[in-house]
Amino acid sequence: MRGSPSKKLDKKMAIQKVGIKKSTAFSGKKGKFVYSFSPGRAEGAEGMKNLLGGKGANLHGMIKLGLPVPPGFTISTEVCTHYYANDKKFPNTLHQQVKAGVAMIEKSMKRQFGGSKNPLLVSVRSGARASMPGMMDTVLNLGLNDKTIEGLIAESKDERFSYDSYRRFITMYSNVVLDIDTHHFESALEETKAQRGVELDTELTASDLKELVLEFKKIVKMNGKSFPEDPWDQLWGAISAVFNSWMNPRAITYRKLNEIPEAWGTAVNVQAMVFGNMGDDCATGVAFTRDPSTGAKKFFGEFLPNAQGEDVVAGIRTPMPINEKSRHTKEDKSPTLEKLQSKAYKELVKVYQKLEKHYRDMQDIEFTIEHGKLFMLQTRNGKRTASAALKIAVDMVKEKLITKDEAISRIQPEQIDQLLHPCLDPTYPKKVLAKGLPASPGAATGQVVFDPDTAERLKKEEGKKVILVRIETSPEDIHGMHSSAGILTARGGMTSHAAVVARGMGKCCVSGCGALKISYEKKECSIGSTTIKEGDFITLDGSTGEIILGQIPTIQATLNQDFQTFMNWVDAIRTLKVRTNADTPSDSETARQFGAQGIGLCRTEHMFFDPERIDAVREMILADSPLTRESALQKILPMQKKDFIGILKAMKGLPVTIRLLDPPLHEFIPHEDEELDALAKKMNVAFERLKRRAEMLKEFNPMLGHRGCRLGVSYPEIYRTQVRAIMEAACELSANEGIHSIPEIMIPLVGDVKELKYVADFCKKEANDVLKNFKAQNKKIRVTYLIGTMIELPRAALTAGEIATEAEFFSFGTNDLTQTTYGLSRDDSSLFLKDYVDAKIFEKDPFASLDSKGVGRLMQIAITEGRQTRPGIKLGICGEHGGEPASIDLCHQYGLDYISCSPYRVPVARLAAAQAALKWSKNSKKTSKRKK
Ligand code: PEP
Ligand code: MG
Repeated sequence: MRGSPSKKLDKKMAIQKVGIKKSTAFSGKKGKFVYSFSPGRAEGAEGMKNLLGGKGANLHGMIKLGLPVPPGFTISTEVCTHYYANDKKFPNTLHQQVKAGVAMIEKSMKRQFGGSKNPLLVSVRSGARASMPGMMDTVLNLGLNDKTIEGLIAESKDERFSYDSYRRFITMYSNVVLDIDTHHFESALEETKAQRGVELDTELTASDLKELVLEFKKIVKMNGKSFPEDPWDQLWGAISAVFNSWMNPRAITYRKLNEIPEAWGTAVNVQAMVFGNMGDDCATGVAFTRDPSTGAKKFFGEFLPNAQGEDVVAGIRTPMPINEKSRHTKEDKSPTLEKLQSKAYKELVKVYQKLEKHYRDMQDIEFTIEHGKLFMLQTRNGKRTASAALKIAVDMVKEKLITKDEAISRIQPEQIDQLLHPCLDPTYPKKVLAKGLPASPGAATGQVVFDPDTAERLKKEEGKKVILVRIETSPEDIHGMHSSAGILTARGGMTSHAAVVARGMGKCCVSGCGALKISYEKKECSIGSTTIKEGDFITLDGSTGEIILGQIPTIQATLNQDFQTFMNWVDAIRTLKVRTNADTPSDSETARQFGAQGIGLCRTEHMFFDPERIDAVREMILADSPLTRESALQKILPMQKKDFIGILKAMKGLPVTIRLLDPPLHEFIPHEDEELDALAKKMNVAFERLKRRAEMLKEFNPMLGHRGCRLGVSYPEIYRTQVRAIMEAACELSANEGIHSIPEIMIPLVGDVKELKYVADFCKKEANDVLKNFKAQNKKIRVTYLIGTMIELPRAALTAGEIATEAEFFSFGTNDLTQTTYGLSRDDSSLFLKDYVDAKIFEKDPFASLDSKGVGRLMQIAITEGRQTRPGIKLGICGEHGGEPASIDLCHQYGLDYISCSPYRVPVARLAAAQAALKWSKNSKKTSKRKK
């Protein structure tokens, strides 16, 4: 078990194997692996997160702030790196350094590690750079054995507490280090309780617990392991186990989900134990300096009297509020920490205020009170819901704690997305079965499942929306939580595992619903007289804690004043304009409410699929002469015009890019003979003739071939009709409603300036004819139109300088540009792409994020050469990348005028654009400073 030191610290190899840069891997002092801290003295500092992990760095930081932190030391993350690069061996000086660290704690605590008098007990905890709550292992009460227990009893004068600590230690150590399942120990505990006729652990006596300790050691033996009596063996076993837990499956899953690099490694913190379970004047708790659900400025937390740290976080006992403001319901009459431990509470208040002021962010703190004395065990930036993040950022600017720029960089664009998610329709009648704790807001409707594997399977294979219902969740459930729309637990408070993880994931969660009785065996649960089976629908309201039977419709969340304030700051910073991809007046209106500054792509073919229009469209396509096609087009023209009027009106005064017909025509034609036959009858033509025409239109490769502007070359009457519809709509709006329309007519899939010129010429002529006619009747007609193209073929990008002679604007169609650059199809390559990402051939799916060497490089060429030909040419992007933050950052760097994305992504894109502007203006400030 013990990790033996290697002969030589081979840094080179360590770096090579994990593939990280020297400068980031070893930022500490050469050969120094252990950093100690004790009251008044810390070798590390809060800025050393890379080396000491988040928890470690902040422990050192809190010492420097003069806060009461039990002494200890941090084993740096570079030891973890070394451990994995050297067949799980430690650097050879580590033993010496750990020994010195323990000696320092002994001195500070005036205790002896392994001593029969005043024994020193320690905790061993993980602590990575980024917080990974509950994913890795912890061992508490380490140092207890048959000798030191006597010392603990003598000192604490509490035999019961001492044996309780001992049996907890054996359970935890056996599970974490010796890999023995806890249920063996739990069953023995349950059996003893049954024999004694008691229900609660706390009702067991000292001698019951003493017997249990013996029993537990037998269990360890029966599992083929031996429990180490030597505290040093215990310590090395625990240190190795914590490093090993960096690679446990749940930590790996968590890292993947949160994009935490494996190469970072974890640090290990060894710290003197303080006891929250040494009597009624002891307690342990977790608190947030602001409400993590709403962001309200109130000290908010939970505690358990006479309990050990993990009890609160594990959600096994339902905790009590630290103060009146933390009470969830009026019915809850449990005493607060403020009442029970007023002195320690007052100190805690001072501490939290100091921490928040110092870190300039909402803190999530862990504390223990031992015989009335407060100890701080952890502080970190608290996880929070999206709406809390926004409120906290806005409030902190108002409190002058942070700047507007900082507020903007603190909100992740995806959090904005969460804010736009729906909540329950309040007008819909609902049957509330029970209320739990409102652990993570939002609303979710779905089918009940009781285990994480089923949740994952139903979501993956059947695309179902599920609600995961558990007695309590643990880190093993993470994949199921990720697959669920919402999470419901019977036990656990606002800081339980379920609550913290759900908030981080932005999922709705109701926790601690005592009325919920769950049988995993029967796959059912009951609330009062209602039984809910697996597959039944329920609805959760994570903002109120309500559990509702059946499905309830959801509605869009209303965006509050904080959102508006924040977005105003965002808009003042960004230089990229944000447009939307919208094909209907209602989508256009939604997008405008979300701040869209125009339409970047209106796909006209979507209007063709409307059931009332498709027949006319098919008639037009299947027509075998220009004359019959023209007559079918005359049926389509008024319909398209109506759409354009709606869209141009919704976007009044803003530019609207309308793309002429793009997809290959066979996409509109029925594929089955039966449907073709029905159509033949409707059109009054022979089935065979129709069938032959349909065959002719078929493409071998549906994404290439006879599509885009090539349709315009073959069937100019289609494009002419569309241009007429656009221009008549714009002129009518101007004449009838005084609206100034700015249509940008976009010609798709151009690869050569000649084809663009060919199509653009007759489009311009058509547009000018319409304008002329209208102006002849009404001189005040105001319509500004442009004709431009999409750049969505590599050849177009490479000949953009020529294309710009004809195009008044470019819009990058990065969906097709990615397909044609990579030779990939958007539709069928997702699985294969995953293999490429897993094999690290692609850093990311190129459809998800722009790649600066491939598609991005082509864009750069087109931008440069397009601008050379036509300075000031309007440049935008309308592929899916236009709504993705990393791609938006590139678009900012490339100097595009605008990005365009789906209506609901507009606020996300606005924030991402502002963050890019901030980032690059800071970068340029930095470089210009350096130059000076
Ligand atoms: C594109 O190719 O990026 C684009 C926006 O067009 P579509 O997705 O309609 O092909
Ligand atoms: Mg395209």
